[in-house]
Amino acid sequence: MILTETTKPFLTLMKEDVAPSLWEDWRWQVRHCVRDLESFEQQTGIVLSDRERMAFRQTIKKFPMSVTPYYLSLINTDDYANDPIFRQAVPSPLELRIARCDMVDPLHEDADSPVPGITHRYPDRVLFLVSNMCAMYCRHCTRKRRVGDRDYIPDRDTLAAGIEYIRNTPQVRDVLLSGGDPFLLSNAQLDWILAELRAIKHVEIIRIGTRTPVVLPCRITDDLVAVLKKYHPLWINTHFNHPRELTKSSRKALAKLADAGIPLGNQSVLLAGVNDCPRIMRALVHKLVANRVRPYYLYQCDLSEGLSHFRTPVGKGIEILECLIGHTSGFCVPTYVIDAPGGGGKIPVMPNYLISWSTNKVVLRNYEGVITTYKEPDSYEPIFCDRNCDKCDLQLCLEDADEFRSIGVEKLLADSDMTIALIPAENERYARRA
Ligand SMILES: *Cc1c(COP(=O)(O)O)cnc(C)c1O
Repeated sequence: MILTETTKPFLTLMKEDVAPSLWEDWRWQVRHCVRDLESFEQQTGIVLSDRERMAFRQTIKKFPMSVTPYYLSLINTDDYANDPIFRQAVPSPLELRIARCDMVDPLHEDADSPVPGITHRYPDRVLFLVSNMCAMYCRHCTRKRRVGDRDYIPDRDTLAAGIEYIRNTPQVRDVLLSGGDPFLLSNAQLDWILAELRAIKHVEIIRIGTRTPVVLPCRITDDLVAVLKKYHPLWINTHFNHPRELTKSSRKALAKLADAGIPLGNQSVLLAGVNDCPRIMRALVHKLVANRVRPYYLYQCDLSEGLSHFRTPVGKGIEILECLIGHTSGFCVPTYVIDAPGGGGKIPVMPNYLISWSTNKVVLRNYEGVITTYKEPDSYEPIFCDRNCDKCDLQLCLEDADEFRSIGVEKLLADSDMTIALIPAENERYARRA
């Protein structure tokens, strides 16, 4: 049976019943997001106990649910309780356990906000929340306070005020669009925001944080990519947490973005019961890199309300890095960061490789446990620096170097060039050479 757009309610195993043209339509996916218990049970075929049902309903009253039919279809229903997709998408009553250390806005994003929607924490870059919508409400969302919140809907005036702040703040060279998910905006809305930002001289790069390649890969349409391509240099960070999330559809979405010349990064969150295992993380980073996505950050789970069951000790993150650094390609290794409560920003944490140090030697250990030394130079003249760069031997010259290339006979005369002969392209003697 083929469902039409208006047919409701859901049927079990919807994917088999829906015309591919609808299944592949991102707006259809968003319209059919699963938001309540009944649709969840009908669509997955999972039957919860009465107690679980009550807890489910209570949880979504405080922290609403929304899952795309696509993402829901990835759940392995034979072992759903342990399924990484289930755990990221489906409410758990544990979310209602508010721990003593939990905070509504641990990162002080609202406090560090000069105008609504903008968080200006670091000197040269801003976070700009351009959408309050997400296709899937991650159960581990750090902005759980905002999910389903009707108070912050960035309309055109709010966005214009944010853009105006960036325009009037010349130190901002990097604008990070987030939300919500910026890719839930229409192509026309995105086109407008990107054009406005690109027109600001001091904005060097634009970044977009989106989870659509994971939860709504059909959003990455050719039309969207055509819009994005106009605004290079544009970088995208996505959010894969488990190797099972890399499917045929998500690979296709990533390939489209990468083929458009967009550098792709990934930000994972370390989540108990989902990816707190070195083997899972190694498989994840290998799959990402094979799809041209560079693992960028691994986040320690924040102190936002309702996330206590997802938190691991910091040692788990260090253990994961211990199992990656040296064991695999350097660009497979994300930076493990703790976003400091109170707005201190991201702080990197690493295993220790520097074991000891004297005045002319350091003692290091490598990933295999080999202990080694590095002899420091016997003499090093520190350069006295009073920021008088004109007088300094180091050349602080910010213009691009001249790419001088001599041509013709000039080339034969130049001391800087090793060419010994100029040969016409159709020279027969050279043509005979292998
Ligand atoms: C994460 C973040 C950024 C970007 O930080 P990078 O380390 O440059 O990726 C900027 N502003 C805020 C408020 C952030 O949380």
